[in-house]
Amino acid sequence: MLDGMDCLFCRIVAGTIPAKKVFEDELTVAIQDINPQAPVHVLVIPKKHVASLAETDAGDKELLGHLLEAVRELGAEQKLGKGYRVVINTGPDGGQTVEHLHLHLIGGRAMHWPPG
Ligand code: AMP
Ligand code: ZN
Repeated sequence: MLDGMDCLFCRIVAGTIPAKKVFEDELTVAIQDINPQAPVHVLVIPKKHVASLAETDAGDKELLGHLLEAVRELGAEQKLGKGYRVVINTGPDGGQTVEHLHLHLIGGRAMHWPPG
């Protein structure tokens, strides 16, 4: 299992890899995505290493709720009153490329459905 210094997002949380932080509290950090897919593209990352949504369990209920609340607050702060999309890519078929749970907050333009 990747964690600590082997994990990109653990290194960003620890501050050993720089990132543009837009929010931080005791459980999470939110950063600007390095390859934004829309005018607003923020990643909400738990400070604790969890590989993916599939690796969470009932003990992570509070953390998961906290991550969604952070997304809602960031959506309001980033002036996304017309809406936004929240994405949790999970596992290879889900398109997950970084094996540390993160929520994408994407907005500032109209989204399309179905996704690719
Ligand atoms: P996923 O494909 O859902 O695992 O998303 C990983 C996201 O992390 C992608 O949108 C990448 O653009 C983003 N990403 C990768 N490396 C960095 C980095 N160093 N700083 C910020 N975002 C990154
Ligand atoms: Zn990690």
